[in-house]
Amino acid sequence: MPRQWDGCSGEDAAVTYENVKIHPAVDGGVKAGDASFGGGTLHCNCASDRVEVKVSGPTAHNHVCGCTKCWKPDGAIFSQVAVVGRDKVEVTANADKLKIVNEAAPIQRYACTGCGAHLFGRIENKDHPFYGLDFVHTELSDEPGWAAPEFAAFVSSVIESGVDPSRMDGIRGRLRELGLEPYDALSPPLMDAIATHVAKRSGALPA
Ligand SMILES: [Zn+2]
Ligand SMILES: [Zn+2]
Repeated sequence: MPRQWDGCSGEDAAVTYENVKIHPAVDGGVKAGDASFGGGTLHCNCASDRVEVKVSGPTAHNHVCGCTKCWKPDGAIFSQVAVVGRDKVEVTANADKLKIVNEAAPIQRYACTGCGAHLFGRIENKDHPFYGLDFVHTELSDEPGWAAPEFAAFVSSVIESGVDPSRMDGIRGRLRELGLEPYDALSPPLMDAIATHVAKRSGALPA
């Protein structure tokens, strides 16, 4: 068991951040995904007439996100969000309850008007680096096996949601303890993908 920091310099005293809450899907430890998992169904949190979305493939780049736009369950300071090809996402029940949160945003997030959960986020701008990918919250599925979160994005942005800046050391410490490397933007592979897209458009790199 990790020990609480006791202020002494004893060799075996280790700082632990177990009591720092990030998101219910990871607070008890990150659960490994099933490499053979092929997709499943997401549903909103309404008691009846739930919106259902079929995701017919595995997700990629699952992560926890501290931005103010992603949907978070009650009390969580991070969301958990992954991407999947838009051709793999299909609303299969109660589509009439969905409404786009902000039509002007680069990612159009389809939220349930009954419970507020976001079922998927879609990019309609074909010039966007992530065009073709939808954003989904796999915690809205009852099936186990979805890909585990791999990193933490937009960590500093939790302050914009009202988290006291003095908590950031503890939050970053807990994320590292969970194996979710904290970044204040996206992860380096995703930032590189965005920059590559921009360079190909400008001609700095061959298209
Ligand atoms: Zn709902
Ligand atoms: Zn986000």
